Amino acid sequence: MTIPDDALTALAEAVGPGSLRTGEAIPARNRKDASKAAEGLPAALVTPRSTDEVAAVLAICSRFSLPVVVQGGMTGLAGGASPQAGEVALSLERMSGVEEIDPVSRTMTVLAGTPLSVVQEKAAEAGFLYGVDLGARGSCTIGGNVATNAGGVQVLRYGMTRRNVLGLEVVTADGRIVSHLKKVVKNNAGYDWTQLFIGSEGTLGVVTRVLLALQPAVTGVQTALCAAQDVGKALAALNRLEARLGGSLLAFEAMWPEYMKAAVDHGGLPWPFPAARPELTLVIEAAMGSAAGEEAFAEALAELAEEGLLDDALIAQSGRDRTRFWAYREANYEFYRDLPPGVHFDVSIPLGSMEKAVALLRERVVARSPEAFAIVFGHLADSNLHISIHSAVMELSGFADILYELVREMEGSVSAEHGVGILKRPYLGMSRSPEEIALMGSLKRTLDPGNILNRGRILPA
Ligand SMILES: Cc1cc2nc3c(=O)[nH]c(=O)nc-3n(C[C@H](O)[C@H](O)[C@H](O)COP(=O)(O)OP(=O)(O)OC[C@H]3O[C@@H](n4cnc5c(N)ncnc54)[C@H](O)[C@@H]3O)c2cc1C
Repeated sequence: MTIPDDALTALAEAVGPGSLRTGEAIPARNRKDASKAAEGLPAALVTPRSTDEVAAVLAICSRFSLPVVVQGGMTGLAGGASPQAGEVALSLERMSGVEEIDPVSRTMTVLAGTPLSVVQEKAAEAGFLYGVDLGARGSCTIGGNVATNAGGVQVLRYGMTRRNVLGLEVVTADGRIVSHLKKVVKNNAGYDWTQLFIGSEGTLGVVTRVLLALQPAVTGVQTALCAAQDVGKALAALNRLEARLGGSLLAFEAMWPEYMKAAVDHGGLPWPFPAARPELTLVIEAAMGSAAGEEAFAEALAELAEEGLLDDALIAQSGRDRTRFWAYREANYEFYRDLPPGVHFDVSIPLGSMEKAVALLRERVVARSPEAFAIVFGHLADSNLHISIHSAVMELSGFADILYELVREMEGSVSAEHGVGILKRPYLGMSRSPEEIALMGSLKRTLDPGNILNRGRILPA
């Protein structure tokens, strides 16, 4: 599908000719996100520099019924930002920058195209911390984080993105600018519409400006690499640490043995524990403040080891140790390259069913193909598992059916933190009821009656 000449002329007038590109002038980065979605050349790429320009672009696209795909840092893993045939790509890449840090209200106002790492750095320079952190921090944008309600490694302490957002400015499909950027924690004056846009993956509106809540900076960060015999013991240890250390826990990440084997065999890391090859290797991190707090962390872990909830607990004695411990948790970015072809998932499983779910997964994967195996790791405290299933001989999509059926049986979610996008849309009904999906459809039709925004993401086109 090509864009009518008068629509192209109107778009060029709205953003200026330098901010409108077509055909081969469109860079590779705007043709595909970080997921397995197919590459696509958008019908046009617009890179507005202001909210008014975004509004003008959407008003034109609405008038000409042009489908629009919204693009942030292109690190999404659900195919949501990858262009589909005939779409106008609206990239927020030129709308980047921190506009204000208010130390009294503990807020930061940022443009949607600002990379997460910039927000983190500016917060730290001002003596604060921004509560969301994830591996794609250098490239993903705050607008993309809001659109996907991104999680990451500190959800245990600070929650997902929605808990760190106080207000939004958005542009609706017809080009209306709607703004709530008041620096107040409480606002029960009517519906909290901003929360509706968080996690809506660009299907309801384009996020242009975000008011973020900042946290006090943390000190005395303690990191431990621990071994646990099973999920039950690991979760008992988590509950004990939460009670004992108050709100100090930052991360409680878990890696199952197949993951550790890949990290050792293909990631070049040594087995961390001298004897044990535990069912679970844990990275536990807490911000303990004072020296007394640091001692309390060590004592708490020693106590859990004595009681048999943990088999081993190595505490980082230096920044180097901390990096070394996190290298296990981040080894997956490297080791996948050396494994047989795989298919990747991001699911939630209720904590009470997690042990059973991992055991059933192993059984069902091997039943389909004895050489196949599943790698499991993730944000255990958030009931969020990242799973990849690898096979040198089998067609991989059959494993998706196995996993999502298991998620349905366990009453989990087919998307924990990466969103639905294009790739998970066929499975939405496995963790949402028909009534829920119908409600989502009503909201979509109300806010985007022409169905121009991120068409076919989350809901059928
Ligand atoms: C190495 C790596 C590690 C990752 N780790 C995590 C993790 O721990 N936790 C996690 O949650 N995710 C993780 N992700 C996934 C990804 O980083 C997040 O989904 C991130 O929030 C996407 O941001 P982005 O700016 O790249 O968005 P994009 O990929 O550009 O877009 C993602 C979706 O948001 C929409 N969108 C983007 N910007 C806007 C906007 N301004 N307004 C409206 N809609 C918009 C797009 O249309 C698309 O549907 C990881 C990805 C990688 C590659």
